[in-house]
Amino acid sequence: MARINQNYDKLAAGYLFPEIAKRTHAFSESNPDAQVLRLGIGDTTEPIVSSVLDGLRDGVNALGAEESYSGYGPSEGISPLRESLAKLYAERGLSLDPSEFFVSDGAKSDSANIQGIFSEDCVVAVQDPAYPVYVDSNVIAGRTGRATQEGYEGLVYMPCTEENGFFPELPKQKVDLIYICSPNNPTGAVATREQLKTFVDYANQHRAVIFFDSAYAAFITDPDLPRSIYEIEGAEKCAIEFNSFSKTAGFTGVRLAWTIVPKACQTEDSEPGKLHALWTRRQNTFFNGASNVVQAGGVAALSPEGRKQTDEQVAFYLENARIINEGLTSLGITTYGSDNAPYVWLKTPKGLSSWEFFDKLLNECHVVGTPGSGFGPAGEGFFRLSAFGHRGNVEKAVQSIKENLKL
Ligand SMILES: *Cc1c(COP(=O)(O)O)cnc(C)c1O
Repeated sequence: MARINQNYDKLAAGYLFPEIAKRTHAFSESNPDAQVLRLGIGDTTEPIVSSVLDGLRDGVNALGAEESYSGYGPSEGISPLRESLAKLYAERGLSLDPSEFFVSDGAKSDSANIQGIFSEDCVVAVQDPAYPVYVDSNVIAGRTGRATQEGYEGLVYMPCTEENGFFPELPKQKVDLIYICSPNNPTGAVATREQLKTFVDYANQHRAVIFFDSAYAAFITDPDLPRSIYEIEGAEKCAIEFNSFSKTAGFTGVRLAWTIVPKACQTEDSEPGKLHALWTRRQNTFFNGASNVVQAGGVAALSPEGRKQTDEQVAFYLENARIINEGLTSLGITTYGSDNAPYVWLKTPKGLSSWEFFDKLLNECHVVGTPGSGFGPAGEGFFRLSAFGHRGNVEKAVQSIKENLKL
């Protein structure tokens, strides 16, 4: 008799985005003439830059000739891409070997899958609020109990609040696996060197492992803020880092990312090199490598011209964030994020709940955003606006908020 993985039934439903879609649809049905302006989902909207398109085309063309055709490649990624990635980190003074880079089809899948090489009884700590994948993948793997009002039983929530600048204190109990996302989705907060150092020191002391999601590292404009956890001394012994071409090169639909598992990284029951070997084994078993066409695009994105053009696109989204932030603060709304991240994290006015503010913004301004409570209990009373939009739409949305939001 086949039986299902009952942990799936524990998931507190893929509630957030379906519910947003449902309420937005209902609004459009009853207000057919209203133009709904979407600052909700974190998906890129600008076309891919020309130098990266050239790289993708080269990848396609190579497949059309006998001499250059290639089939399966290494599941860890093609050497030119792993070498370009190592060079990117070397520019910041970090010495990582190309073999420590694992190219993949997404930081979402990698950050969901990484827990699979760790023991089932590891205690997991997550920032609250957080990108939902970290929690859900551990629920499915059976590392939590039931969902309650306060979150999942057995999961350690590390609240990120106004008081702590949206970066958590160390957990009080001993934890084994720690997820940190910086710049953070949804709060837009970036961890400082000192803040990361407290976690790296904790992890090395307790033989815990940090999963560091740096998908938005390219949005950091402040030169004093770390873009990689390996900028912190000792991090190579305790941290695995994820990053992606999705938000930087507009690859959300193209799919390309990388994960760094340093050979020095270890657990309490393993020697250096073991985690690297396990992730290699995992990827070789479950994955046959990212598309070769797409990897050619990735190499182009890391070329000098590719970097210049994608940097300009990142700057464009950051300008959107600035415009949104300026509009909100002009109304006296308290905001966070936006300087070094494509998200504005606002405090709902008058103590409204996240969903109350969602309805208000939709009904009064015809603007769709994302309720903070959908990212974890500590997100209640906050709201996320995304800067991934066309300039005209962003400006219209800000204009509408300024004219129509009843405060
Ligand atoms: C968008 C995003 C990613 C990127 O995931 P991909 O699967 O590479 O598209 C990773 N982490 C966070 C927090 C994100 O918001």
